[in-house]
Amino acid sequence: MSRQMHARRLDGVDKNIWVELTQLAADYKVVNLGQGFPDFAPPKFLQDAFCKAVSGDCLMHQYTRAFGHPSLVTILAQLFGQLVGHEINPLDDVLVTVGAYQALFCAFQALVDEGDEVIIIEPFFDCYQPMVKMAGGTHVYVPLRPRGDSNLSSGDWVLSAEELASKFTAKTKAIVINTPNNPIGKVYKTEELQVIADLCIKHDVVCISDEVYEWLTYDGTKHVKIASLPGMWERTVTIGSAGKTFSATGLKVGWAIGPSHIIKHLKTVHQNSIYHCPTAAQVAVAESFQTEYERFGSPESYFKLLPALLHHKRNKLAACLESVGLQPTLPEGGYFMIADISSISFDSDDTISQDEPLDYRFVKWLIKKKGLAAIPVSAFYSPEHGKEVQNYVRFCFAKEDSTLTAAEEIFKKWGSEK
Ligand code: PMP
Ligand code: GLN
Repeated sequence: MSRQMHARRLDGVDKNIWVELTQLAADYKVVNLGQGFPDFAPPKFLQDAFCKAVSGDCLMHQYTRAFGHPSLVTILAQLFGQLVGHEINPLDDVLVTVGAYQALFCAFQALVDEGDEVIIIEPFFDCYQPMVKMAGGTHVYVPLRPRGDSNLSSGDWVLSAEELASKFTAKTKAIVINTPNNPIGKVYKTEELQVIADLCIKHDVVCISDEVYEWLTYDGTKHVKIASLPGMWERTVTIGSAGKTFSATGLKVGWAIGPSHIIKHLKTVHQNSIYHCPTAAQVAVAESFQTEYERFGSPESYFKLLPALLHHKRNKLAACLESVGLQPTLPEGGYFMIADISSISFDSDDTISQDEPLDYRFVKWLIKKKGLAAIPVSAFYSPEHGKEVQNYVRFCFAKEDSTLTAAEEIFKKWGSEK
């Protein structure tokens, strides 16, 4: 018998929705409202900072400090210290990573032992589940559910405090939250975060808070950092992404911020895997944050301009979806919108497997027959619970107006054919 050539920890984590659907979208040359990345240019100050970094000092092309370029950890500590209301030590409390993905990976590897349980709130950004598994942990799911019959706003999707409390056991090591949430766009209110915080404190559990869409909130909704609640700084790892902050997902600069007694363990994972992140990209991000820090709260701030731009795009996409009977759930934050497909009839042909969940079949049909890419929402659920949400698909609205207009044309043509 030949030897098995892969480690057991990879069993069951080989499928990846982004790999599969990004390829399908490319094959069919679609209007792409699938994968979450802006197709508009990042702000000029970021582009200028990047050009300056790569064309300046030759040390910009060499290794830098393992845990983050000094200029970047300094400005992150300064800005986030004010937002969290806690002094942040740039050298001890901040780790710069290859995007938020690596910050998440370091957090799970650093915190989760064989047999530990990690609570994940469904729907969740898909990588949490394989990352917990690869760390040897067990995932425990708790769902956001639409309140009553209403799911018109992402705020209608709520956690049951009793159900959440019932998931905490002696084995619970961590809980992962994501606010603003991908895919629904829910922005957790202070009261909702307080319920989670109280349970974390009661059971001595770490909170991993994925806040990559922190600047993107709409209609006056406020993003609140769980690390700012009393007693939570000590037990929270807050994760962010320059890709999402500055509309430049190709930068792959992210960070984890938290107390040194936790961050030091993430550093151990980082130093033994990646070691350090690209220097010039970090310097460009540092300079961009410096620019934003100096005009924080002013109308010229990109952190105000970007949500204003996306607010308009969100409303445009919602109107398009409604026009063909796809009922959207209006997001309070982030750059995705889910829509209910139950009123749509579609013929999935023999290139699409009938064994797949309805939302996967719908998305494949949409790509192949309508030339429009979206993402099935069951991809953001555990296999056990995915079946319950087969009626939803996710669209990204962080797109050029011309892309949204091209989608609108597809929807109009589709509407006229019905
Ligand atoms: N968390 C969430 C919720 C995301 O949507 C994404 C995708 N951007 C990431 C983490 C990963 O971010 P990055 O591109 O910075 O690795
Ligand atoms: N976070 C992005 C999304 O949800 C992209 C994820 C990816 O490409 N791996 O669409």
